Amino acid sequence: TRPEIAYFGAGPASLPTAVLEEAAASLLNHLNTGLGIAEHSHRSALANDVLRDTTNRLKELLEVPEGYSVIFMQGGGTTQFSAVPYNLFSHFAKRVLTEENNDIEKTKARLQKAKAEYVLTGGWSSKACTEAKRLVGEEKVQVIANAKDVNGGKWGDIPAAESWNLVKEGEGESVYTYYCDNETVDGVEFTGVPQVPEGRYVVADMSSNILSRKVDVSKFALIYAGAQKNVGTAGLTILIIRDDILQTQCNDTELRSLGLPLPPIMLHYPTLTANNSLYNTLPIFEVYICGLVMKKLLETGGLGAMQASADRKASKIYALLDKYENLFKVVPKKAVRSRMNICFRIEGEGLEGKFVKGGEERGLLGLKGHRSVGGIRISNYNSITEEQVDKLTAYIEEFAKSAT
Ligand code: PMP
Repeated sequence: TRPEIAYFGAGPASLPTAVLEEAAASLLNHLNTGLGIAEHSHRSALANDVLRDTTNRLKELLEVPEGYSVIFMQGGGTTQFSAVPYNLFSHFAKRVLTEENNDIEKTKARLQKAKAEYVLTGGWSSKACTEAKRLVGEEKVQVIANAKDVNGGKWGDIPAAESWNLVKEGEGESVYTYYCDNETVDGVEFTGVPQVPEGRYVVADMSSNILSRKVDVSKFALIYAGAQKNVGTAGLTILIIRDDILQTQCNDTELRSLGLPLPPIMLHYPTLTANNSLYNTLPIFEVYICGLVMKKLLETGGLGAMQASADRKASKIYALLDKYENLFKVVPKKAVRSRMNICFRIEGEGLEGKFVKGGEERGLLGLKGHRSVGGIRISNYNSITEEQVDKLTAYIEEFAKSAT
């Protein structure tokens, strides 16, 4: 039964039972209207309330400053791998066009040397980078750091920001600087916002650690996150975007003249914000669930409390893995260990399978690593309780004792 189970899957992830109970009731009969929330029109006043409340809660939790907008989109984090280059190149080109008094040739010349900068720290940032290259061309993308270069050809480290090979003044211009704050598959997390030169347009994928700690939003041009790990269910992506990017964009004629790709309308951020995220039918039920999760976070101490809890839970698990370091090999280097996705290998023939199976017998589910890398992965998202972690650590200790 549900109370007997703890689910450590990486996403979709478990959600607080109280949230699901409230959502389930709303699915049948939302606010005594006799209709379920997924049946009401996405343009109804009810749906608007859900959008407004969820946006406000997100802004309150993350202390989003003036000058930023929230967008709800579909298509998961992966869709943003495409949406980011479309919108940010268009924004950059429009700025240059304006500076060059709408001279297309001069703008083209500057665009030729302009690059999106990507920091590669794992599978997700790599995929984002590959997609950017597909859409705008290899020559417009510069890998400014690759963790594999500093970690013997494997993921598991984050090159220090001081070492990043940023586009240098005189050689070209930076369109944006992209990184993934927490690499879900590889268990690597930034400890804070990396220091980049003033004026850079920093874009971060926070799909697997959003709302698990405080973030200085003012340092970012764009933050995005798929909802299905720390916030809600699959099907929704949350964006926090600086308004200048929305306000300053090339039109289609300009993009064509400059040889830049035209974004599909559903990926065109200004169209989405102009329509309050309702250019098409948004799944309001998914937004509602996110809103309920956010409400609960606000009631239980906000992101300061979540951060403390995530640190406490992750420390307990890592301490135990380190205690039995001959058996458990944590994948990433110590300084960049993720608090959200704890990835390790178990030394010894068949022991990983045994660990997963033993976990299942005890109601500890979702411990298997990502299919591309294997191993064990414990996802320690917001909804995982301290009691669940205690149950898990008791099992890890028991397993370690029997295996050593
Ligand atoms: N970025 C990160 C950090 C992720 O963990 C994931 C999914 N696990 C994605 C992007 C892709 O998300 P989606 O499956 O929602 O497209």
